[in-house]
Amino acid sequence: MANILIIEDEKKIARVLQLELEHEGYETDAAFTGTSGLEKFKEQNWDLVLLDVMLPELSGLEVLRRIRSTDTSTPVILLTARNSIPDKVSGLDLGANDYVTKPFEIEELLARVRSSLRTVQVKSEHSSVLTVKDWTVNEKTREVLRGEEQVDLTPKEFDLLVYFIENKGQALNREQILNRVWGFDYYGDTNIVDVYVRHLRKKLELSDVLLTVRGVGYRLKE
Ligand code: CA
Repeated sequence: MANILIIEDEKKIARVLQLELEHEGYETDAAFTGTSGLEKFKEQNWDLVLLDVMLPELSGLEVLRRIRSTDTSTPVILLTARNSIPDKVSGLDLGANDYVTKPFEIEELLARVRSSLRTVQVKSEHSSVLTVKDWTVNEKTREVLRGEEQVDLTPKEFDLLVYFIENKGQALNREQILNRVWGFDYYGDTNIVDVYVRHLRKKLELSDVLLTVRGVGYRLKE
């Protein structure tokens, strides 16, 4: 079952959400400030985040912005005040998947949660097999194949390859790549990205499509 992070400073609302979601079979955890919410978000993988916009310390929109700087796929549903159109607009611009207006009917919220989780699942079923040049990259088995030929990649090489394929055509900077592939808490040298890109180019013969973007980082050609 999916696990859901609730970031909401009104403890009563957070508690009701937890009870209702757990009653539906979801696993939940709650954070009561923007800062602790962001920390909890980084600690593990979440299937969905319910994010209140009006939060102390770090606003919900700022939390969303920081989540989206490294994670573009975990669905985030915003909890917004009734008349706050600007929050809704900037929330969606910042990459929220949906919003629910407070005070909300729990049934409506549960429907939005189901719908967001479904969308992600359909997407991941479709995208479990990726391709680059004549290679097939299977995210489920983590195999990289060209016909019968199989190439062994280390876990990080594999993750890096998938990240490039998912962002085909986009220039990605080293910082972004590090955050996404090595995690938020990696403080090492960004040169590690260059080393891994060299490995990928060599192992998969990608030099003609995995391009260096001068002063930025790398781009996988479409
Ligand atoms: Ca609030």
